[in-house]
Amino acid sequence: MEQLKLLWELQELEREIARKENDLQNISSVKAFHALKKEVSDLQEILRGHEEKIDAAKKKLKRSEMNLQNTNAVIAGLNKKLYGGEVHNNRELESMEKKLSLMQVEQSALEDEILSIMEELEKDELESSRLGRQGKEVQEQLQQIKVQAQKDMQSARQELAVLGERRTGIMEQVEGPLLQKYRELSGKMQGQCISLVVGGYCGICNVSLPSAFRARILTPGQLVYCENCGSLLVLGD
Ligand SMILES: [Zn+2]
Repeated sequence: MEQLKLLWELQELEREIARKENDLQNISSVKAFHALKKEVSDLQEILRGHEEKIDAAKKKLKRSEMNLQNTNAVIAGLNKKLYGGEVHNNRELESMEKKLSLMQVEQSALEDEILSIMEELEKDELESSRLGRQGKEVQEQLQQIKVQAQKDMQSARQELAVLGERRTGIMEQVEGPLLQKYRELSGKMQGQCISLVVGGYCGICNVSLPSAFRARILTPGQLVYCENCGSLLVLGD
């Protein structure tokens, strides 16, 4: 009887271990850590996108500013020639005036373009620094939750280790053939197969057992099974 009771304890312990192993996958701080980690990497990707956009805008701005400088120089040169009294040929003057007005249109377009690039750049730089601050905050949260997740994980593992030791201790006390019987039965019934009988009821399927069962269970060396659910019966009271 003592042996069967040990077997029942082993079963209950193994069920608890299975529950705790399952819980290990669902520790809330660990889940929160993974979710936050994803948030950080998403944020970093958005930030990279913004920085690339800013770099491109800065290059474009530099090119436009150089173009404007060149245009300004050409306009200054034309003005000097036109109003410096050097050129007297009418056709040549006309062509220079035409060129000057074209250059002035280009100058104004470049000035508009530079202004709009600068406005866009300023917006992007503001957004980028806002994202940078947000990223830093989330990174700090991540660090905190990581510490908590590691703690929770460690204590859950420690609990499992203690249960594992108890399990080994019980297994060493149970006779080999009985342990094998338990494994076979457990495989067939998918887990719970040792039933603790209390008050004349099967502890697994709850069926009321005929009183003759009690005497049979108490007979040394006899294995008695529930006729309803097939579990091995152990007297609990
Ligand atoms: Zn039963």
